[in-house]
Amino acid sequence: MRRFTVITLGCPKNIVDSRHLIELIKKESFIYVEDFKKADFILINTCCFIEDAKEESIEEILTAAKFKVDRKLIVFGCLAKRYGRELTKEIPEIDAIFGVDENEKITEYMKQFRNNLIESSKHSFYSVEPKSYRYIKIAEGCSRRCSFCVIPDIRGKFRSITPDLILREAEDFVNSGIRELILVAQDITQYGRDLKGYDLKSLLRDLTKINGDFWIRLLYLYPTDIDEKLLELVATEEKIVNYLDIPMQHSEDRILRLMGRRGTKKEYLKKIRQIRDIIPGVTLRSTFIVGFPTETEEDFQGLVDFIEEVQFERLGVFKYSKEEGTKAYNLKGQIPEDIKKRRYDTIMSRQSVISLEKNRNLINKEFEAIIDYTDVDIAIGRLYCHAPEIDGVLILDNANSLREGEKIKTLITEAYDYDLKGVPVK
Ligand code: SF4
Repeated sequence: MRRFTVITLGCPKNIVDSRHLIELIKKESFIYVEDFKKADFILINTCCFIEDAKEESIEEILTAAKFKVDRKLIVFGCLAKRYGRELTKEIPEIDAIFGVDENEKITEYMKQFRNNLIESSKHSFYSVEPKSYRYIKIAEGCSRRCSFCVIPDIRGKFRSITPDLILREAEDFVNSGIRELILVAQDITQYGRDLKGYDLKSLLRDLTKINGDFWIRLLYLYPTDIDEKLLELVATEEKIVNYLDIPMQHSEDRILRLMGRRGTKKEYLKKIRQIRDIIPGVTLRSTFIVGFPTETEEDFQGLVDFIEEVQFERLGVFKYSKEEGTKAYNLKGQIPEDIKKRRYDTIMSRQSVISLEKNRNLINKEFEAIIDYTDVDIAIGRLYCHAPEIDGVLILDNANSLREGEKIKTLITEAYDYDLKGVPVK
């Protein structure tokens, strides 16, 4: 039997795309393996959201290319869609290039070569995602026009995935023991705009009716489209964790306008106050871009002051990268790399102090935790305030009786900049 692996780069949306592709390929009697050196087909799901993501994708392709003998190297996803021709020219080891939404074509391609590869030795097999959580993509594409972003060109207009498909997928996950469903899309607040009378709140109400002991986490909400009813639902529904990821990108009105983002600093501050009033103890995560064209020292200081004032529990920062085909690409006043780096470092170091302080407030308190990984006598888990892969984690020592996917009670004993340490509580 032929073996394949999928290396996924970029955001959780790509993880979902890879999962669907893996399922489709498995139905054609291929076997999934985690180690690409043991695979007959190496598939790389690429990302090109920012310069760093492009570089990471190209490095992964080059690494896989070195091990390519007797294997097929297939590259797909955002970078492949955008720079397919350039990639095949620069990296001739690539056998095939596909864009996004081309799962059937990829599978057909693999079937053609099923019998033309040399049989490799037997290996052990692994699953692609942990036993504890799954991302569920609730929509594809984006109809907003942020001036720095290539996503609408690559992924097309916003389309909601129908509720029956989402609910069926969610139910299957919960029945198989998954403890956390993480809803993702480019912007989940838009969910349902193309469905009659059914929106994100309707979907959440239906998801919470699924029987089982599981959490629901919401990632990527557009700041100005979060309404009071949604916040009340998050506050009152036990299955929805008190965690909201709201990318704001900047705080200064002039930069927000140039970015093509809706809302003002005043409105953002008002929204944050409303969220914290309605959901006490909420963990707020946001992401910001530094070094956007024309960003002055004054604009940057305004952003730092905003971050200090809000004291986000979680925060991510990106250095602006110039993307061909975007409106911002041609803007005058591009910021030199050394200034972007200094601004990035400034915010990250301020945030590590805020994060440590917030983490210290959790010491001696008890929380529910989900166990993601176990290794000998250490376990890695998360509380409601940790989204997997982007936030810190909970580290548990002497945890040899814990199992992956288990939900436990824990007492927090130590705090670090981003991670926590705890012990299980009986
Ligand atoms: S909301 Fe803006 S940043 Fe997010 S995917 Fe859409 S266009 Fe890009």
